[in-house]
Amino acid sequence: MFVKRIYNFSAGPATLPLAVLEEVQKQLLDFEGQGMSILEMSHRSKPYEAINKEAEANMKELLGLGDDYRVLFLQGGASTQFSMLPLNYLPQGATADYILSGVWSEKALKEAKLIGKTHVAATTAEGNYTRVPQQAEIVLSDKPAYVHMTSNNTIFGTQWHEFPEVGDALLVADMSSDMLCKPFDAKKFAIIYAGAQKNLGPAGVTVVVIRKELLGNNPKTIPTMLRYDTHADSDSLYNTPPVFSVYMVNLVLRWIKEQGGLTAMQAKNEAKAALIYNTIDESGGFYRGHAEVGSRSLMNITFRLPSEELEKAFVTEATKAGLDGLKGHRSVGGLRASVYNAMPHEGCQALRDFMLDFQKRNG
Ligand SMILES: *Cc1c(COP(=O)(O)O)cnc(C)c1O
Repeated sequence: MFVKRIYNFSAGPATLPLAVLEEVQKQLLDFEGQGMSILEMSHRSKPYEAINKEAEANMKELLGLGDDYRVLFLQGGASTQFSMLPLNYLPQGATADYILSGVWSEKALKEAKLIGKTHVAATTAEGNYTRVPQQAEIVLSDKPAYVHMTSNNTIFGTQWHEFPEVGDALLVADMSSDMLCKPFDAKKFAIIYAGAQKNLGPAGVTVVVIRKELLGNNPKTIPTMLRYDTHADSDSLYNTPPVFSVYMVNLVLRWIKEQGGLTAMQAKNEAKAALIYNTIDESGGFYRGHAEVGSRSLMNITFRLPSEELEKAFVTEATKAGLDGLKGHRSVGGLRASVYNAMPHEGCQALRDFMLDFQKRNG
């Protein structure tokens, strides 16, 4: 059967590795001789338990984490983590610090404000989030309950390349759009969370990485489903988990390992992003990047054209040419190419070629 696949630059849900989709297709009707699909199987069954265990182990292995961390597979998206985090770890009287580097960090702050006291430790809102804050700009409160940051700003196309130093404060990161795109020191973080639908798999599951010593350290009044310890104590099986999403995340984790792990992902991602950024930089001003060079994201590349008419034409013609999902978010405008781990090098080459051709015709 001939299947025509296009290059999908959507910010999320986003493109998935073809090898993973083919594996899913192969296993759909009969998962490993069970005579049924994962979609139909009890989450208490042996095959699912094995997937659940392997997914946690694979995630820890890729992050270089040991027994002092747990990996949880939860529902409600990264957006539920915006509330779950302060519910569990912002006690009355304490202050939680938020570093604002985009719309998603603003949303995280908004939820924390509903629960307790907050402090903005740094913000780059002025100038519409063209960069992430520098270390010298970060002013923490006295003994913050935790410091929250967003590692990659999906909408603005900026990314932290060196994480902030916060002394002995608990550092928490929303890594929804760049988790596992390159090696990093995961032990620096008390909690990491990420909706899977950008760089880890399909929608429906949120990955939470949490330092074990934090578990149980939360008020007894929090509803059961919103407690991290509930899910840690039951290995993410307190209630019915999104079994198919976890299964697919595990296949993506296996795929990343086969690619050579995070070091290999970084090399591939840097080569891919360079194709697009170089085209922007060498366009003589026809393409203008939104992000400052030092804060450029490897995952989401945001750029403008000389006029909105040209931007519209670019999106329409690119879609016709099999390059989809390039329309930028309304808060930045212009174009956004999301080039997550699963975007093949050829996709970025095709986009570069299209950009060069479009400029030739319209520049
Ligand atoms: C997409 C995104 C979110 C929201 O994720 P949901 O799973 O839809 O709640 C949060 N943070 C960042 C950085 C994102 O890119």
